[in-house]
Amino acid sequence: MKTPVCEEDIREGRLCSECEKKISKGDLSALDFEVARLLARINQRRNLTAASFTRCIDLGRMVVIFTEGEPGVLIGRNGTVVSELSHALGKRVRIAQSSSDARKTIADLLAPAKILGINTMYHEGVQNTKVRIEKGSIQSLPADLDTLGKAIKTVLKQDVTIVFE
Ligand SMILES: [Zn+2]
Repeated sequence: MKTPVCEEDIREGRLCSECEKKISKGDLSALDFEVARLLARINQRRNLTAASFTRCIDLGRMVVIFTEGEPGVLIGRNGTVVSELSHALGKRVRIAQSSSDARKTIADLLAPAKILGINTMYHEGVQNTKVRIEKGSIQSLPADLDTLGKAIKTVLKQDVTIVFE
């Protein structure tokens, strides 16, 4: 299994000083640690050796888990793994593929809302990305705009503005 937390920390149930440093820098979250521990527990019963994730994003009612590997491993046969995670976290869980493509990552975080376009502009050396969403999709956003904006910033390390058209 490959997670952003050390294997030893998962076994011992506490973070080492290196991982604590990552938490204070925002490169790791308590949720990442929780999901890593849950997967280790599930791995004792089901084979999740091939499972991997890069980070988890809390959208309030939903957690999005990004993986660089095959999403099917984290979903499990008939969705068994994802439903165990969902039950343990008390939230809906969605598995998304990590991508260097910002557009795909944003689409994964905002799904099933329909994205009309993503525009990146530079103003005095500062990058600003505007995500245009179809007005009719407001109701289908997985969380409020503030939460989604923070989630995108966590993953892409850039500020985005979400607008409806
Ligand atoms: Zn560690």
